[in-house]
This record gives sequence, structure tokens and C-alpha cells, in this order.
Amino acid sequence: MSIELLNNFSILLMQNIDVNALTAALPIHLAERCDVIGTEPPNPDGDWVVYWMHHAMRGHDNPALEVAITFANSLRKPLMVYQGLGGQHAYDSDRSHWFILQGAHDVARELNEAGIDYRFWLPRDHARSPLPTIVSRAAALVMEQMPVAPFPRWQAKLVSRATTTVVRVDARCIVPMTLLNQAPDRAFRYRDKTKHEYRQRIAAGWPATALEVHTDTTQVHDVFESLPIATLSDSDLHTLIASQPIDHTIGPVIDTPGGSTAGYQRWQTFLDQGLASYHKKRNDAALRWPQGVSRLSPYLHYGMVSPFRIAKQTESANLGGSGKFLEELTIWRELAHHFCAHCDDPDSLAALPSWAQKTLREHAEDHREHTYPLTALQRGSTHSELWNLAQRSLLVHGELHNNLRMTWAKAIGEWRASPSEALAALLDLNHRYALDGNDPSSYGGLLWALGLFDRPFDPPQPVLGTVRPRSVDAHAKRMDVPQYRQHIGRTQGQRRRIAVIGAGISGLTVARALHDHNHDVSVFEKSRGPGGRTATRRRDPYQFDHGAQYFTATDPRFVRQTRLWHEAKVIRPWDGAIVSLQDSRSVSEKARWHGTGGMNQICRHLAESLDIKRQCRITQIRRQDDQWIIDSEHGELPDRDRVFDTLIITAPAPQTHQLLSEVHPEFAELAASIDYDPCWAMMTVVDATDLPAWRGAFGSGQPVDWISLRSAAEDSATCVAHASPAWSQQHLESDAESVADMLADAVQMETGLPIDRAATVAHRWRYARVRNPALIEAAFDPLTRLGIAGDWLGGNARIESAWLSGAALCGHVLRAQSISS
Ligand code: FAD
Repeated sequence: MSIELLNNFSILLMQNIDVNALTAALPIHLAERCDVIGTEPPNPDGDWVVYWMHHAMRGHDNPALEVAITFANSLRKPLMVYQGLGGQHAYDSDRSHWFILQGAHDVARELNEAGIDYRFWLPRDHARSPLPTIVSRAAALVMEQMPVAPFPRWQAKLVSRATTTVVRVDARCIVPMTLLNQAPDRAFRYRDKTKHEYRQRIAAGWPATALEVHTDTTQVHDVFESLPIATLSDSDLHTLIASQPIDHTIGPVIDTPGGSTAGYQRWQTFLDQGLASYHKKRNDAALRWPQGVSRLSPYLHYGMVSPFRIAKQTESANLGGSGKFLEELTIWRELAHHFCAHCDDPDSLAALPSWAQKTLREHAEDHREHTYPLTALQRGSTHSELWNLAQRSLLVHGELHNNLRMTWAKAIGEWRASPSEALAALLDLNHRYALDGNDPSSYGGLLWALGLFDRPFDPPQPVLGTVRPRSVDAHAKRMDVPQYRQHIGRTQGQRRRIAVIGAGISGLTVARALHDHNHDVSVFEKSRGPGGRTATRRRDPYQFDHGAQYFTATDPRFVRQTRLWHEAKVIRPWDGAIVSLQDSRSVSEKARWHGTGGMNQICRHLAESLDIKRQCRITQIRRQDDQWIIDSEHGELPDRDRVFDTLIITAPAPQTHQLLSEVHPEFAELAASIDYDPCWAMMTVVDATDLPAWRGAFGSGQPVDWISLRSAAEDSATCVAHASPAWSQQHLESDAESVADMLADAVQMETGLPIDRAATVAHRWRYARVRNPALIEAAFDPLTRLGIAGDWLGGNARIESAWLSGAALCGHVLRAQSISS
């Protein structure tokens, strides 16, 4: 039937269909899991029935899909299954994108085979989601129930604008979330209440419904360009992910590929080899899969495997571990779903039972033996080896054994300065790194660590009060920690030997992230310490930030990093006014940050525990037998320090060009196209008794651009001045003493400050500021495993761009692992 005929027919038909008639057509097993949240009648002029898929990524056993098919059949409209990955989710990363896009491949195959139209949207150039437009043209909209942020908010916004019927379907739970009318508080009560409900539903399995109206919706697809997901290779995914404004410092988990095929393979192996002993072995994190736990949770989280099928097969298998596994899959997993569906704000302490809130409040001020900022937790650098290993399991492998996760979570409860900071860290670390993160089950587990689904335990302990205690040390005694260490110490894909040239912001950002992913990283830096253009020069008792003085943050990823550095006391807000000396006016109040105790603190923090070869200028690089060989100005380095399979260069563009001209003409050419402005910096000491009110000032530019003042001792302050690009260029080859004199004169004239000439020195930044940054954020050649990063790539040639460039390059290296594995 043509689209036009079909539309006329369906308009006639729909004049008689209201919401009730539409839902009345649903069989009971679907109707019981539907919530009508948009009560408008179906839109007779609508082009299609839309199913917005996100956490039921499968074409089988999918109640939301079947509701959509039933609606399309009733309304005689085409069906479009829409999925989008807009990069707006707080925890979007290469890891989650990789898993979802791989999974979408299987969805496309399955839906295509069933003749169902599946459209996938990935933004280009920061484009906005087409979903509102699609919905405005929908005859009816079907959504999934996913009762954790951001989905309820996103859905509410969409519904508020919808002019058609909107139905939300529970495709996640065997006993649907719609069946209970309040949040359950204890597992045993939930079990008692739902025993019969489970019995019937598990045995019934899942009957399939066929789509009756097969129409090609391409004619009405003028809203967005869908990704040809079924034809994309891993290398296409690599390129697509690189273009997304998401967190590139969290790499794909290669040994857990996304999709129903991989999910059911994992399930089948566990069913055959692990389920029989699940009840005995499930608590031992050191056991090698398929012994112990199923590791199915990422697939359940994204709905790539069907909980209905898994439950039925578990029951039918009737093995030793079947009962315990079913208890976890149904009672504990679904208890958490039902809880989130009926809880106003699972992200806050208010989600806890009142006794837990009270005891945590009463002990909020207790002395804590250890407190850690989020950066230390993130890297797994606490005093506890087992805890660190657990965290590294999350960071590197995107998973954490369920029983150890409970201990990991309890420790965070004790190691943060307050209960709300503990909850924030729990949610952040879990959701950011775990492939199964941001699931209702995550909330069940994380809030359990603070008292949810539990009772008070006496006597009260420091910090957690009567919340059930659980010790990491005791856990370590009951497991084989060396075996676990060996398992967690692996890399995703081949372990790489990586040389990073340059210990500035970009080099250390990429080195840090790759080291944190268990790769073997060495950093080579020509100066005496890390910092690059965020250097701090010390001359007792004074210190001078003679390069960058402060930085600003605009990209949400860097804004978050800034928050983390601030919490770890690595940076602090710029203190003191900033003025323009020309018109004596205050300059805008935007947030400016500088390193606590000097700008180079940021690089020092990034460099912690990294292998850095200082005062080691790399002068030559070459390829030999598929390896990179590097040599320094001091001659040949020992073999351990000169042969690498991956090479990363983060020097300013002219120095990068010099190193690469013989070995990688393409990257060398890109580097050669970048121009820099030089900057002469003057450092001096001034009398502090009569300082002006400002601490930073933009000068006239003739010749001074910028002056900063910092109290150093009771009677003296340090002063740094930067000359303008034009003046610096003009005096580029002048000697430092005469430049120091000229700039001191200029500062004295502009400010009236008496300058101590004997304490005045100048430093030349030959490559200070990039004039024409390249458009790409970073580049990586997967054939030779050569990467380039730095503030000259992408962005606006500042600290923020250097950080983003390092992060982008990290993404290239980690994603390439999956292609070469
Ligand atoms: P770099 O910091 O230059 O790091 C590259 C590193 O590579 C250096 O440590 C270098 O020694 C090393 N290296 C080079 N060649 C070799 C080799 N062959 N072997 C071994 N090591 C090598 N940014 C802001 O955001 N706000 C500001 O207000 C600001 N003001 C600035 C003022 C001045 C005077 C200057 C100079 C810069 C300023 N910037 C500012 C820019 C900011 O400092 C840089 O964008 C950022 O620090 C660049 O980081 P990077 O890692 O890309 O490069």
C-alpha cells in the first residue's frame, strides 16, 4: 500500500480511536506494564508511531517494541524505532558510546530482519536532537520506563510538548514497576509481596507479536540523517566517537563487546559452566569467570539481553545456583527498579530510610581516619590496596564484582568529608566508569552502603553510625588478593609501551590517562620539571609563575576537571581584582583559576607516580622493526628507555615539526602550518607596603600586556609582567638583561611601583601563544602508532585546549586498541 493511501485510511480509522481504545487493544501481559503519560488522542495526521529506544536495545522479548507494534497495527501507521546518542548524558564517554554503538549494530540487524525501521542519530557539529521534531509528527509515542536521571526529566520535557498519545512501558522488570504503588523498603517484604507474581510470569516466558504494516518510512524521513549503523565497521565507530564532545579519557572495554550476540554468548558460557556453583562461589571476586558471577549486568543495563529469557532459562536449568541467581536477578535487581520508580530523588540522601539519614547526620562531624578527594579515589591511590584494585577494576575494565563493590562503597562512605560528599562520589565513580553504571540496580547497591533496604546495627561506629559496617581489611583476608591483583593489572587489548614527549598539560593529561589504563608510559621532558608553559620558577624565598598565570574553563568536560582539581586543592580561584590599567576599570568577573602554590602544581598533580625522565631533550626519532626508537641530546638512551611501540609528541608545533619531518610528513606538515607569538616575561620583586588594590592588570600593550602582583613576604611582593607579542617579536633575539631592564622601566612607568632592579630577570617564551590553532583536537596514526597533541590542536590555544587535546589523543590510543586486538 502506498504511504498516501495508508495515511487516508488511517485518518478515517483514527477518528474513532482515543487513548483508551488504543490501549484496550493491548494484551494483558503488555497492558500491565504501560503507563499512559500523555493522554491526548493519537494524532491522525501523524506520519508514524515512534518508539524511542534506549535501555531495551533488542528486537526480541521487548515489551516496549511490542506495544509500539500493536499501536502501529491498530492505527495502520508505519513504525519508526528511534535511538539517539546526543552526548548530553553526564557520563557519556568513549566507553559507553562504544558499547552502545556496537549494540546498535545487533539491534539494526534484528529489526531489519523483522522489517522494522530503525533509525539512529549521532550528532554532527553540535546539532540538536531531532527527537522533538520526530515526536511532533508522531501518531503515538512509546517510551521506556527508566526511572533514573536523566530519563524522567528528558521524558517529562518531551511529553509536555507532545500533542499525541504517549505511553511509557516497563521493558526491564519481570514484575512490572507499574504494579506497586509505593517504594519497597526491605527485600524480604518485597519478596513476600511479589512471590506469586514472579512465579506466573517467569514460567510464561515472552510471547512475540508481529508487525502487520510494513512500510518504508524513508519518504517521511526528512528530519535527520540516520547513521547507517548496520554497515559501520569498528574503524568507522572509532572516527565517529572521536568527533563527539564526550569524555575521551575512559577507554572501551574490549573484552566486553556491546550487543545481544555478545551478551547471549556470555550468558550461555555462564549457564554451561558457572551457574551450577553460583550459590557457592558468587562472593569471591578473585575467581576467574565463568566461575563466580555471570558478568551480565552491562547487557542487562542496556537491555541487550532479555531478563525474561534469562530468568526462564535459569529456572528451567534447575542447577545448584539457579535459585540464588534468580533471587539476584528478580528480587534484588527489581527491588531496586521498583524503589527508583517510586522515589522522588534517588540521587540524594533523602532517598535513605529516616533512621539512616538521622544516624549519618549525627555522625557527620566525626573524625575520619582517612579522607580523599575524588581525584585520589578516581585513580585508586588510597592507603588500601584492595580498595585501589577494586577502583582500578572499574577504571580499566568497566566492571566491579558485586560483592567487592559493596565493600568498595562502604569505604567511600567513611572516607569522604560528609555523607552527601560520600554519595556524590559513589554515584560519580560508579556511573562514570562502570558499563552497568547509572542503572536502578546501581542506586540499590550504592544507597545500600548508606543504609537503604537495611536495618540499624548497634553499637554505632564512627562516621557511619548505625549503618551496617563492612571493612576492606576483613574483605582482603577472605580473598586471594594477589590473584585479583594479577587479574586487574591486565590491559584492555595489548599492553603498550608508550613514550610521551613533553610534560606540559597536554602531555601529562594523555600520559596520566594511559598510565591509569595500565599501559607502560614514560614521559620525556627537556626541562628540570613538569609544567611546560605553566612553569613556576623558584628563587628563595620567592616564586614566579612566568608563563600562564591563570586559566578559565568553558567546555563542560574541563569545567568538571577544574572542579576536581579545586576539590583536591590543586588550584584555587584567582584572588584579588583584575583591572585594565588604561581606563582603571575592573575586568569581567569570570572565574579564573591558578595553581595553589604555583601554576606548575597542576602538572605536578597530573604527574604523580608517573615515570618522568627530566632534562631529557629528545632530538631524534626513527622507525625500526615496527617500533619507535628515540634518542636524546645526551646520546643514546638505555634500551629500556628508547624503544617503544607507541609514540606521542606534545611539544609546541615547531619542535614537533622538527622531530617529525623525516618520519611522518603528514603530521609534520600540519605542525609546520602553525604560527606562534613569542612573549618576553619579566620577573621581579617590589616593595609590598604600598601595593595597589589590584592583583592583575591588563597593560597598554606598549610594551606591557599583563602585570600580576602576589604578596610574598610581609614587606615584599612578586611581580610578573608579559610583553606584547609585537614588542616580544621585535626584541626576540635581544639579551635577557637588557629586556629585563626595558620591561622594568615600563612597569614602573605604568604602575608607579618601585622595582628592585637587582632582583629583576627576564625569560623568553619563543613559542608562547598559538596564533592559528589546527581544527582537529589531536591526531593519531594507528598504523605507526604515532600521536600528536598540544594546545596548537583544536580550541583556543590555552590550558583548556591543551587538556582537551591530551584527552582526545588518549581516546584515539585506547580506541585503536580495539581495532588492533
Ligand atoms: P607546553 O606547556 O609547551 O608543553 C610542552 C612540553 O614539551 C614542554 O614542557 C617542553 O619543555 C617539552 N618539550 C618540547 N620539546 C621537547 C623535546 N624535544 N624533548 C623533550 N621535551 C620537549 N593559557 C591560559 O589558559 N591562560 C593564560 O592566561 C595563559 N597565559 C600564557 C602566558 C604565557 C607567557 C605563555 C607562555 C602561555 C600562556 N598560556 C595561557 C598558554 C598555556 O600556557 C598553554 O596553552 C599550555 O600550557 C600549553 O600546554 P602544552 O602541553 O600544549 O604545551
